[in-house]
Amino acid sequence: MNKKSITNKMTKYIDAGFPIIYINTFEEIKADKIIVDVSKSVGRQVLEWDASNGVTKWNVKDEDIKKQHCSDGDYSLEQALQLLNVDQDLSEKILVIKDAHHFFDNHKIVSMLKDISHKVLSGLETTIVVVSPVLSIPREVEKYITVLEIGYLEDYEIEGLIREFALECECKISEVLLEEMVLAFKGLSEYEVKNILALAYADDGELTKSDLKLIHDQKQQVIKKSGILEMIPLKESLDDIGGLENLKKWLKKKAKVINNLNKAEEFGVDIPKGVLIAGLPGCGKSLNAKAAAKLFDVPLLRLDMGRLLGKYVGESEANMRKAISLAEAISPCVLWIDELEKAFAGIGESGGGAEITTRLFGNFLTWMQEKTSTAFVVATANNILKLPPELMRKGRFDEIFYVGLPNKEERKKIFEIHISKRRKIDLPKINIDKLVEKTEGYSGADIEGIVKDSIEETFASGKTELTTEFLLDAIANTHSLSEIMKEPLEKMSKEYKERKFKNASI
Ligand code: ATP
Repeated sequence: MNKKSITNKMTKYIDAGFPIIYINTFEEIKADKIIVDVSKSVGRQVLEWDASNGVTKWNVKDEDIKKQHCSDGDYSLEQALQLLNVDQDLSEKILVIKDAHHFFDNHKIVSMLKDISHKVLSGLETTIVVVSPVLSIPREVEKYITVLEIGYLEDYEIEGLIREFALECECKISEVLLEEMVLAFKGLSEYEVKNILALAYADDGELTKSDLKLIHDQKQQVIKKSGILEMIPLKESLDDIGGLENLKKWLKKKAKVINNLNKAEEFGVDIPKGVLIAGLPGCGKSLNAKAAAKLFDVPLLRLDMGRLLGKYVGESEANMRKAISLAEAISPCVLWIDELEKAFAGIGESGGGAEITTRLFGNFLTWMQEKTSTAFVVATANNILKLPPELMRKGRFDEIFYVGLPNKEERKKIFEIHISKRRKIDLPKINIDKLVEKTEGYSGADIEGIVKDSIEETFASGKTELTTEFLLDAIANTHSLSEIMKEPLEKMSKEYKERKFKNASI
């Protein structure tokens, strides 16, 4: 949502007498600007409370906000609310409270907010605006609070910031670089964009292509700090995957659409939603998520479902919205949801935790169903028996693949890939067919382990060449996946076949 539409929305809330508006953002400067615009259109004075300054009154000249102290000494939030509430000083005011989430476990503060909300509902012309990067809503005032999320910067807003910066610093920037920078900055706040631009400029006094790496590195950190998403560096490509040819072919087809989105849409092609890759552990599911991002040439964001769950009312849903809107802001991207079954375990059961999970799941399904952005979801799951059937209905994912244990041909390729990566020089002399024969029931991860172990053994024994014998010894010392997980594997394979999932292998 851009600044104008948030301003309009907030004005409507105030006109309609909503007692508390909760702006969930870490972009305080942007929030302040919005509040100024709103205060002008509703004709109200703005008072602010924050922990370092106590109560201040806003004096606005053009775009500039001067915050004038209007309390002797620094009032605590409790004192400030007491004073303002008793004296009826709140009439025709907007009271902005910054970082109030720190104080929401104080029952006196919560009770005063409730009291003020009642007065607003009985006609007092006041609105409390909470501005905070953390969404924590006390249950007692839940029904008086309306949450407003300031979304991420739109492309044209980022472009405006870069142009403005370049003008101020009198540095030239080509249109091509500008476009690349806009893409790289997607998903960052105004404050972060300005800081990174200053950093990029500081090292050599210009903005150049080499600064894209800096932007990328900084962005990786910012996203990590958000705590829910992680930006994974792209190393593996489709060439690093042995076998799974059906899945690879399918991904290549999607890449054609994603890399030519405008043309494809014009032609009538639907925007790809995503893929669910289910199957045995260590057989290349994660590898495919990573390789897909590299193939599409877009960032890879990993969603940590465990971290979504928060302790306050609505916190988990807000985290989910945040993760989704960040992924959409960064899109085109691949949003990788690992171990999907863990995220949605307990759906439909009763109890606090299960209810939150059920609600989260509902939010996720709706998003998948209605998604129009190019955040391509790659969900991976080990155990589909734990996944709710709604998830597997048509319309959520474009396709569901299962990956099983690699066949002969695939094992051959996996051996070749992992030996080439580490001891390419020895590959021609190794009898791969013999290794393939001895590794029926082994996963890709097992094979990688065998290659690593045998190379280490070769080195430790003082030999200079990796041989078939070293590899055969390592095989003999490794229990295969099918040996370790015999029963669950048989059960799962049967299930995949019954549900007619597409086989990732030919
Ligand atoms: P898990 O469910 O345990 O996370 P996974 O199916 O996601 O497993 P990956 O992480 O993709 O498994 O694979 C583990 C390791 O095994 C990878 O680092 C990769 O090197 C190797 N591997 C697995 N399958 C293949 C394959 N088909 N080709 C090459 N390497 C493979």
